[in-house]
Amino acid sequence: MERKILLIDKDEIFINFLKERLLSEKFEIDVAKNTTEAYHKIFEFLPDLVILEYNIQDINGFQFCKTIKSHKVLSRIPFLVLSENVKPIDKYWAEKSDVQEILRKDTPYEEIKLIIDELLNEYEMDESAKEQIKNHPVSNESIQTQAIKLMQGEIEKYSFLNAFRDMVNEYHTDEKALIQNTFDLLSVFLEYDLAGIFFNHAQEADKYLLHFDIKNCSVSNFVLEKVKRDFFSKMPNMKEFSITGFGHDIVNENNENLDKRIISANDFKSSLILPFEFEEKLIGGVCFYSKKEQNFMDFIFYDIMVHELTSLFKTSYLFSGIEFLSVTDGLTGLSNRRQFDYSINREFNKSRKYPSDLCFAILDIDHFKSVNDTYGHQYGDYVLKEVSSIIKNSFRRSDMIYRYGGEEIGIIMTETTIPSAMTMMERLRKKIETHEFFFNGIQISLTASIGVSSNMDKLEDAHQMIECADKALYKAKETGRNKVLTYSGEGE
Ligand code: GH3
Ligand code: MG
Ligand code: MG
Repeated sequence: MERKILLIDKDEIFINFLKERLLSEKFEIDVAKNTTEAYHKIFEFLPDLVILEYNIQDINGFQFCKTIKSHKVLSRIPFLVLSENVKPIDKYWAEKSDVQEILRKDTPYEEIKLIIDELLNEYEMDESAKEQIKNHPVSNESIQTQAIKLMQGEIEKYSFLNAFRDMVNEYHTDEKALIQNTFDLLSVFLEYDLAGIFFNHAQEADKYLLHFDIKNCSVSNFVLEKVKRDFFSKMPNMKEFSITGFGHDIVNENNENLDKRIISANDFKSSLILPFEFEEKLIGGVCFYSKKEQNFMDFIFYDIMVHELTSLFKTSYLFSGIEFLSVTDGLTGLSNRRQFDYSINREFNKSRKYPSDLCFAILDIDHFKSVNDTYGHQYGDYVLKEVSSIIKNSFRRSDMIYRYGGEEIGIIMTETTIPSAMTMMERLRKKIETHEFFFNGIQISLTASIGVSSNMDKLEDAHQMIECADKALYKAKETGRNKVLTYSGEGE
């Protein structure tokens, strides 16, 4: 069967030349005089290939191709564009417009013919594809109107995309602002009554938090609990969590219309819960609920939204990992020295601004060097990890325990007086003393000494408070170890 080529004519001399040559090669040729005729001929003539000049009419060859290809049934027809000259940027736009090939008009005929054969081979359309085109309704909109609409759609798409990316760039280090702005942006495009967003973090999180944005109504706690439960149970690869292990916060709630209050989950007529994964790890999730029947996946920018949310969650997940690494000690999992320096100053200054009790303790393992020397460095590492976990499990605020130095652990205790700090530390000392350390088949016992200080009036800064704890520790070591002491000034 003869292959059909549609030529779109402007420069009659050139097209006629091409037509004659191609006819002699036994192709079936049809010529369209303008883009409107060309559009109709695609459905009637059913070409295997379209050849057109870059400058055809009021729209250019690329725009024409892109508009034609926006009809899915036509997307497989190959297009060859011929142009006076071809710059690299033309090749780029040709690709973006789904044009298969762009050649200079003065390319020798033999070369053009080779490309034509290649295109016809590569994009061979079977009869059923042609049948589909034949039966496809022809739009009664002009090709120009279709092109304008397509461009308008592209502009909107890129505005949405840009807005999303600008937002992520600006707020990726501030999760709260990121959440707020994501809701603000999504609610411009999507009609929902309740939306939720969940960011997973690279480090072990002990609580899973779903952030809610509630529009034009208020939602009963009962419903929120149900939404939360449904949401987290749909998240894949989620580690075991208990009822208390997941929570929510309401970022926005517009509840002026209390009569619109949602008290049953059945009030929602449509919903979508969407988990996001990256390299088989859960990185986040979103959910949307509406009182109206609607399919959230019909949202025109649905694919873009999913794509952009994926990179948002990915950025945030990776950033949380870096942030975690930069503040955490790798061996013990405690906050590191850098974080300690920051926190101790912050807490000290806070306790001065809003007067409150603050205590600091420094714990040092007794004769730790001999543990290393006798049982090896690995055993020493194990002891450090074990002591850290004993301390972590002894305090509410595990985030206020720091690896202060080699085998020294610092503990910041806010809203705590010296007597209660001493009691707490004494309890800790006993716990370590009675703990059985067991590793590599070897069991040992250990003790630790602890120095405690407080934010006494006479101290000027956090540094002096640390010095006092250090002095107390030194004294504890000097006077026999395995004890808790405090230091409050010279001569003690
Ligand atoms: P004291 O009772 O006076 O505190 O005696 P000590 O031996 O515990 O004190 P010293 O400060 O002399 O020794 C601390 C040792 O801790 C020295 C160092 O090799 C060891 N150390 C520091 N960091 C690590 C670590 O990450 N792993 C191991 N295994 N050892 C460490
Ligand atoms: Mg020591
Ligand atoms: Mg030491």
